[in-house]
Amino acid sequence: NGLIIAIDGPSGAGKSTIARLLAKRLGYLQIDTGAMYRAVAFLVGQAGIDPGDVAAVERLCNNADIRLDNANCSLRVYANGQDVTESIRTPEMSLMTSRISALRPVRESMMLLQRRLGQDGGVVLEGRDIGTAVFPDAELKFFLFASPEERGKRRYAELVGNGERVTLEETIEAVTRRDRQDSQRDIAPLRQAEDAIPVDSSHSSIDEVLNKMEDIARG
Ligand code: C5P
Repeated sequence: NGLIIAIDGPSGAGKSTIARLLAKRLGYLQIDTGAMYRAVAFLVGQAGIDPGDVAAVERLCNNADIRLDNANCSLRVYANGQDVTESIRTPEMSLMTSRISALRPVRESMMLLQRRLGQDGGVVLEGRDIGTAVFPDAELKFFLFASPEERGKRRYAELVGNGERVTLEETIEAVTRRDRQDSQRDIAPLRQAEDAIPVDSSHSSIDEVLNKMEDIARG
């Protein structure tokens, strides 16, 4: 059936691009777990729910229909039937997601969904806690990282490409702040699984990183 491959790491390390291309090379399904948390954050904002109202967030999660569609190797994200692919990628949504994803009911419902989607194997899951919490027994785990400057530069290029008006300094600042928030929280903090293979993407091209990971995956 294929392996369960976990790719964890901080934002801007190249997880999404690498996960998408690795999944394509292996004929696997890509599961972008960050997009799921972003979709929940979108629904919370849209419903006008105060993130401090955990009971309301829990009710929302229990009724949320989050879907990822990977057709043609391009990811589209749906929240309760609405296509939110573009609207979940703004800097505001990133910070909001980091906050919402620290809420227990949000993590519980998304973990269930992620396990259901990934349990049969043949999947590349990317996120922050795949190798540590969602699939601690995954056959193959990578921890993808890069220097804060490099990650800021990549995020900046992505945001400008999406038509956002941001500066590089601002973006490096935001990336660093979100990492701090993601690493220091009590629930599902970002950390490397002990058995994860560390991959530094700071000074490597996408192809170099990808070739290395594909070789390991094919054993
Ligand atoms: O990967 P991405 O930048 O889309 O993730 C957005 C946010 O969702 C992260 O900053 C993190 O707070 C949260 N997240 C998480 N667990 C995951 C994936 C993402 O808490 N597995």
